[in-house]
Amino acid sequence: MREKPTQLVQLDAAEPADVGRTALFGLDAEALAARMKAVGEPAFRGKQLAEAMYRQRLTDLDGFTTLAKALRRRLGAGGCVVGRPRIAQVFQSVDGTERYLIECQSGDSQTGDPGDRPIVAGVETVEAVWMPEGDGGETGDGTEPDEPETLGAPEPALSLPKGPDFGTWESSRPQPASVPQAKPPSDGPGKTWSRATICVSSQVGCAVNCQFCLTAKLGLQRNLTAGEIAGQVVAILDRQAVEVGRDRVNLVFMGMGEPFLNYDNFMAAVRLLVKEVGLSPQRMTVSTSGIVPGIERFAAEPAELRPKLAISLNAPNDQVRSELMPINRKWPIEAVMDAVRQVHLRSRERITFEYVLLGGVTDQPRHAAEVARLVRRSGLPAKVNLIAWNPGPGIAYVMPRPEDVEKFRSTLAREGIPTYLRKPRGRDIFAACGQLKRTVEG
Ligand code: SF4
Repeated sequence: MREKPTQLVQLDAAEPADVGRTALFGLDAEALAARMKAVGEPAFRGKQLAEAMYRQRLTDLDGFTTLAKALRRRLGAGGCVVGRPRIAQVFQSVDGTERYLIECQSGDSQTGDPGDRPIVAGVETVEAVWMPEGDGGETGDGTEPDEPETLGAPEPALSLPKGPDFGTWESSRPQPASVPQAKPPSDGPGKTWSRATICVSSQVGCAVNCQFCLTAKLGLQRNLTAGEIAGQVVAILDRQAVEVGRDRVNLVFMGMGEPFLNYDNFMAAVRLLVKEVGLSPQRMTVSTSGIVPGIERFAAEPAELRPKLAISLNAPNDQVRSELMPINRKWPIEAVMDAVRQVHLRSRERITFEYVLLGGVTDQPRHAAEVARLVRRSGLPAKVNLIAWNPGPGIAYVMPRPEDVEKFRSTLAREGIPTYLRKPRGRDIFAACGQLKRTVEG
């Protein structure tokens, strides 16, 4: 990969906010068809709108040339805009990682309506990250490297006996109204990657309060809508000129927020990304801190729409986990495992346990032996992703020593647990796990 200096890319000046208008982005083809019928247009116009927003990735109704000009004008006059979230700032790392501030203009995410977003005054930004060549966390997830990027037909489910999030990407604070506009894809970097991973946020802030996570310090500000979650992905696909169906792109819902505490909007976003954008759910992984009712709902989702599941474990036992992740007092490890065992896994699919190594706290060989026992006892086809904790201001942990990380990894491997070390990506731009509080330093 071509090395280049760390830099902040300032994008064009922002368009005026679309306050008072209605965003179409976030509505699926069916909902768009209903909209069209309501204004006396044939239902297939809905499909055309979806095609233009999600496949062609157009952001301005004027460009929707499959619709007659008069209809485009009528939609505009009726208060409709595309309203896709915009990339406001880009931070580029020497390792090719890009961290984005993505601007969301919707203020009303509590309605439960996945896409019908009246745009209200005020702009908030969330962060998402593009990692060319991934971070190693995808390894061993049951997806073969040469598996085509297609809409997966449901694979035969494994019948399993009955049985939380590592979202340490940090969000930004709300940005001033005069935010710059997204950069056109042609200005983006050339395609120097063979595969990539996009890390996506599901909430502004987070209520779960994991002690090692900077996002926790924000508290929960609001849920993102389905359009705002899917919009992060589409904006990045656009910037990186990704060819859906050809390029190998994984999504990880491990950004800021707990997806299972915004379940309806999260799953509506997944449905949009699968059905309208054309991404495979088998290349998506959602990470949860262990929200048991959410896992149970997730277990009932159809295989053709269900991402893979990662549990943010981070501790070898309930005592340590309850200290690090207070949510564990409500849903302890065994309750989480019981819920996970309800998920019918696809052929070769594994549950991922994310495990943050905190120096001296969770990274010792005895912890590794305990984690191995815990994973084996679960009876789940599983792998462990290790993440060496990244330091953050105001968080009183220390990074693990490299020799302890290696000992931990080899102990698990010796115990027969498939174990992978996630590479820290974008440390210089504060894009690595747990570093995303510093929104504007380049
Ligand atoms: S669930 Fe925990 S790790 Fe994930 S964003 Fe919330 S506080 Fe951070």
